[in-house]
Amino acid sequence: MISRVPLDRINWKTSVFLIGTFLLSITVVPLYLWKNGIDWFQFAFFIFMVFATGMSITLGYHRMMSHLAFKAHWSVRLFTLLFGAAAFENSAMLWCCEHRRHHKHVDGEGDPYDITKGFFHAHIGWLLFKMEAEPPFDNVADLQRDPLIAWQHKWIHPLAFGMSFLFTSAVGWAWGGAQGALAAFLLAGVARVVVVQHSTFFINSLCHTIGNRPYSTRCTARNSWFMALLTFGEGYHNYHHEFQHDYRNGVKAWQFDPTKWAIWMLSKFGLTQNLRRVASEKILLAELGETQRKVQLKLAAAEAAGSTHSLVAETIARMQEIAHEFASYRDEKMEVTRERLLELRRELNEALSNIRLLDVSGAAV
Ligand SMILES: [Zn+2]
Ligand SMILES: [Zn+2]
Repeated sequence: MISRVPLDRINWKTSVFLIGTFLLSITVVPLYLWKNGIDWFQFAFFIFMVFATGMSITLGYHRMMSHLAFKAHWSVRLFTLLFGAAAFENSAMLWCCEHRRHHKHVDGEGDPYDITKGFFHAHIGWLLFKMEAEPPFDNVADLQRDPLIAWQHKWIHPLAFGMSFLFTSAVGWAWGGAQGALAAFLLAGVARVVVVQHSTFFINSLCHTIGNRPYSTRCTARNSWFMALLTFGEGYHNYHHEFQHDYRNGVKAWQFDPTKWAIWMLSKFGLTQNLRRVASEKILLAELGETQRKVQLKLAAAEAAGSTHSLVAETIARMQEIAHEFASYRDEKMEVTRERLLELRRELNEALSNIRLLDVSGAAV
């Protein structure tokens, strides 16, 4: 049964924008590409804007501002605020407020993108429909004191349109006149917004659905290398929920996490500092604890199903056999020792009696 959604619950502005840009990306954009093709500059500019805006969210909004995982030079903060605005995910202040609530109330009432309310809700539904009440900015006092973040929050809508559509069209114009401006507007503007937005939405939906949970099963967050490819390294979401202040999400050296590499590279130029890392023994302990818990659960389940019963019985029988063997070996050894002691005593007595005989004969001499 399809439940009806009251019209006054629809977030019209957001819905029209999200659905409109998506529809343009699957109709007008491919049509334009089919008729006009694409030159190397437009392609490179599209890729640049995907990374600049996508990583302004993961590096800036998420790891730096929501979790304070490192500190950054004002130029890095300004860049992520400008290009982050172009991702059309609202201001850093609102984004962080919602994200901190997500971590605090994950999978429960108060989690804005609670996966237990369904995949669609966690992915995009929570944006299309109005929330019950406006979130209070009671968990972002630190960000409200930051003049750059407060400035971006005040001017978020002009900044978003300016960076996303005017800036991209202007760059396209400089490269190829009116035709170049249209191409950049459609590719580096519209299509790029859709790509980056769904990359972020995947973190709230798929990263709480597919993958494994090597660090903790306390919440639905999962680790997936495939999702890391689509989310600039945020796919190691189980680790992130367990250790949210670590600047790395893919904590192993080989795990694909371009956001972690960018933060580390910037630190080599003095543009980021105080990179927070969880001690490796603490990470290992979490992994070991979780592995032990899973093994115990599996054993209990298998035993309940009767499949390990014979194995356990066999193991116990063998252990009893070994204990019996050991006991008889010990008894045997003791018997040998006892006999040897008796023999020694006999030899000693014999020697003593010989000495006594010698003494008697000596005394007689
Ligand atoms: Zn999450
Ligand atoms: Zn987070």
